[in-house]
Amino acid sequence: MTIMDFSENYKCSFQNEVESAYFDQNLVTIHPSMNYYKKKIEDKAILVKHSIIGVSNDLKHDAYLVRVFESKAREILEKEVNTESMKQWTDGYAAQYKSKVGFSFLSSKEYNISRHCFETSQGKNVWDGLGAIVKNSCYRAMLTGRVIGNATDMFNHCKETSAHGLKLNENDNTSTIREFVYISKEEVNRSNTPDVATFVGTRRFHSIRNTETPLTVESRNLSCFCEACLSAGQCENVEYVESWKRSSLFKAKKPEKSTQSTQKPTAAHTIKPSPVEPLLVEPSVDCVPSCASSLDSMHAELDGNGFAQYEVDDYVAVQ
Ligand SMILES: [Zn+2]
Repeated sequence: MTIMDFSENYKCSFQNEVESAYFDQNLVTIHPSMNYYKKKIEDKAILVKHSIIGVSNDLKHDAYLVRVFESKAREILEKEVNTESMKQWTDGYAAQYKSKVGFSFLSSKEYNISRHCFETSQGKNVWDGLGAIVKNSCYRAMLTGRVIGNATDMFNHCKETSAHGLKLNENDNTSTIREFVYISKEEVNRSNTPDVATFVGTRRFHSIRNTETPLTVESRNLSCFCEACLSAGQCENVEYVESWKRSSLFKAKKPEKSTQSTQKPTAAHTIKPSPVEPLLVEPSVDCVPSCASSLDSMHAELDGNGFAQYEVDDYVAVQ
């Protein structure tokens, strides 16, 4: 399970005012994520809290940048755990996670992925804690004279001072890892914008997942993680969360206008009816507790095969 979002951009600054005047336009994107999974360490099943923090000089907080970050984070995670089924939690109204382009990327993943949305900006979340660690570290370094003038400087500083391998906490059988990834502008390809349909009502649903068919997704108003949902069975809370609704992201093509009004449509002009409904989600009731809208941190209790139970706690600190 992953919790992620963009942190507010870091503005590079310096003790020396002259330098500050020159460099103060250098902003850095920070994209923190906290990944929870279970791993067997010394015959004990340990919950690992693996933070992966993206640092970039690309300031467009959009689905294209998220796609590169996801790819790099998954490369790291698949060395530690089976990543064939992933669950993401993100900010509910963020355009980068609920845009039609973002959905098309999600629908094309080669592994099972579902995305669940918090109510937007409801209190501080785990990504705020990770973002604060990065910014405070850079600020303290700046006070001691270290120059952090751009995204590369920040990445190098954080990697040297804040990254760490597996640290075991014997008190609660958990462990932490913290890593940083750098994403340069050049790695973010925005040249091929997918031509997909505009969504109606995207702000109202909280849960979306990919299917076996590219550009086809399933969504529902609320999130649920009952035993049946985790094993692809019939949801025990279907009266609250509603059923998954399958939708096509294909943009319906308009028939070409004929110059002869009497001409009958040919096969080439005929629009094949879509086998699935367009994505139009009705207004829903407010979030069920599993959306954790106003709470700050989540912990996952996992069985040997994946996620079995989710629990939301007050967020205290990121170790
Ligand atoms: Zn369910």
